[in-house]
Amino acid sequence: MLLILALLTGAAGAGIADWIAVKGRIYTMDAARPVASAIAIKGNRILAVGEDLKAHTGPSTRIVDLAGATVLPGFIDSHGHMAGLGESLENLDFRAAASVADVQRIVAAEAARRPKTEWIRGRAWDQTRWPGGRFPTAGDLTKAAPDHPVYLARVDGHAAWVNRKALELADINAATADPAGGRILRDGEGRPTGILVDRAMGLVSRHIPVPGDAAVERRILRAAVECARLGITSVHDAGVTAQQLAAYRKRIASGDLPVRVYAMIGGDGPLWREYLGKGPETGEHLTVRSIKLMADGALGSRGAAMKRPYSDDPANTGLLILNRAEIERVARQAVAAGLQVNTHAIGDRANREVLDAYAAALGGANDRRFRIEHAQIVDVADIPLFAKYSIVASMQATHATSDSRWAGDRVGAARLEGAYAWQRFLKAGVRIANGSDFPVEEANPLPGFHAAVTRGGWRTGESMSREQALRSWTMEGAYAAFEENEKGSLEAGKLADFVVLSADIMRIPAAEIPKVKVIRTVLGGKTVYP
Ligand SMILES: [Zn+2]
Repeated sequence: MLLILALLTGAAGAGIADWIAVKGRIYTMDAARPVASAIAIKGNRILAVGEDLKAHTGPSTRIVDLAGATVLPGFIDSHGHMAGLGESLENLDFRAAASVADVQRIVAAEAARRPKTEWIRGRAWDQTRWPGGRFPTAGDLTKAAPDHPVYLARVDGHAAWVNRKALELADINAATADPAGGRILRDGEGRPTGILVDRAMGLVSRHIPVPGDAAVERRILRAAVECARLGITSVHDAGVTAQQLAAYRKRIASGDLPVRVYAMIGGDGPLWREYLGKGPETGEHLTVRSIKLMADGALGSRGAAMKRPYSDDPANTGLLILNRAEIERVARQAVAAGLQVNTHAIGDRANREVLDAYAAALGGANDRRFRIEHAQIVDVADIPLFAKYSIVASMQATHATSDSRWAGDRVGAARLEGAYAWQRFLKAGVRIANGSDFPVEEANPLPGFHAAVTRGGWRTGESMSREQALRSWTMEGAYAAFEENEKGSLEAGKLADFVVLSADIMRIPAAEIPKVKVIRTVLGGKTVYP
């Protein structure tokens, strides 16, 4: 009788709950019980999910009435940049700038209130949204700020727009050669125009004073608070430094980091060698077991490595930042040490190079869960290789909607067949982990979810169903981090990470999805927002 009662009530674990949320519409991502109305929490874990959890109610159990609100597993953003988000919350943001004049006005105002020794920094400008669509120049910025060095990163993070002062400080002139993997845009006489692409950005950025430990810690905490506000309970931080890891450890020790972090080591350096020696480090708040590599640049600045030239720049095939041999060497190291490799690849050539490098190290189907980050423009013939070598595609839905305005210009109609090709990937049996690439795109997963299911009306045959989209932000994110037994669904025994929404994004008209509000974010049984 007790057993039957337990089955009826969905009580998978015995015990008395600390609190039970009732009268909700709970999407569990658990195939055995896709929808429930109540969830019981004990400590930082889920005790039970079901309809009537009275068996878990004791004298001290708090009952929270959800009043019909929607509950989802906490969003997992499988590709974001925490320190970058924190920094962007502190720097000028040009996402809304509609012209060079808009940028000039904001920069001039900032220059007026800062000492001339200080760098003015900003991000997210996008010339494709401006009249004419051409790259701006150092002269444009110098008009707004003649005395301060100015460094403004493009929306994709793959180009920088600098002023005269910054070029002078970095000693960049007509005689400066392009660095490997980078390009200094030049005028007819070979003089730098003020736009630096990919590795050329470093020629100026290395002159910007590096943030101290306190600044990094402040930025990471700021970003984590922003994630909690947006219903994100786990982030895969796509490229961290030793300084950032130290900041995470400090915040976790103080118990005030409101998000869990799966940190990818940024590049093949001393930190990677340290982990090759000691192997994966796993924990409920911080896990380090992967490296982030960069195979190419981005599509907007034509730095993505293509098999054939850009349709709108016939002499250019983009830039390969790492070659196949370099990636294969790291992949073999990772296999030997039980670590994961996550490589940024945007163009079809970069994707193929990474697939071949991974294939050489992996040999066939496997459980290493190597990932390609972005996988934006992939030769349709290469998509089955993801499945063949068990490679996870870590894609970001809003990249498709943001890039849709010009992606066709860059690559032409034929190559669009493999562009942001979510259904082709899914049909080939490839797992897709979703995310935002914040601060490149907005961190908010709700506009992301909307982009996944609508694509803004662009090439809608590749749209995800709502179930596929939710899975990509929950279970697949967990899988991509080897955490599918800990998170990604609402089941007894898993971490109590979930989000309460103002409306049911699985059923409302799609157009309403971006307006849905996060009412509450719960991390490990504790409310971290509001
Ligand atoms: Zn990124």
